[in-house]
Amino acid sequence: MGRCAECNEMANHFLYLEDGTYTELCMECFNAWYCKRMGLDYAFYAHPKTITVEGSKFSLMVEVQVSGVTYYAYQGRRDAQLSFSVVLPFSIDGKTAMQILKDKIAVQNREPSRYDDALQESGTIGIMYDDGPLDAAQFIIDGKNYDEQAFLALLREKRGSNLVFRFEPRVPHPDSTWSTYAEHLPTQPMIRYDARYDI
Ligand SMILES: [Zn+2]
Repeated sequence: MGRCAECNEMANHFLYLEDGTYTELCMECFNAWYCKRMGLDYAFYAHPKTITVEGSKFSLMVEVQVSGVTYYAYQGRRDAQLSFSVVLPFSIDGKTAMQILKDKIAVQNREPSRYDDALQESGTIGIMYDDGPLDAAQFIIDGKNYDEQAFLALLREKRGSNLVFRFEPRVPHPDSTWSTYAEHLPTQPMIRYDARYDI
């Protein structure tokens, strides 16, 4: 893995351009490139490198996609990162996004359970991404790892409850890389809202 052609940070996007050339970019420079391709200005989504919520500091990662911008806040060990995210439309600027993300963390990032190995009344269960075979998963709760058996034991303790769930993207592992052919990427953002129904 080389250095970003734009800013010399470590590159993690390998980008094959339509003119047959190839370049390597970091996440931020890839985001800027992708925004420009879709006629957007990445400066509108400007964000700090870290945010602090009620005394806890989180690192930020941002991922531009065709349907909007995902902002991730994360902290902790590389193999058990506590991870929060918000997926927002392109109409929301980076400053507003930070407030939405901070509010979400403040609500969800409660004190870890006083009891070891017990689920709180509400919280976030991370399912670690792993590109190996789909025969086992690792779970991350309050910054601790649980294998499948340990996770089921946590659920067993909650017999008599409903578990209400909602999937959200988890911050990519710090060593993740992406290979992208520009020809596969759209040149316009996907507009989720259809104005025809504006009555
Ligand atoms: Zn860069």
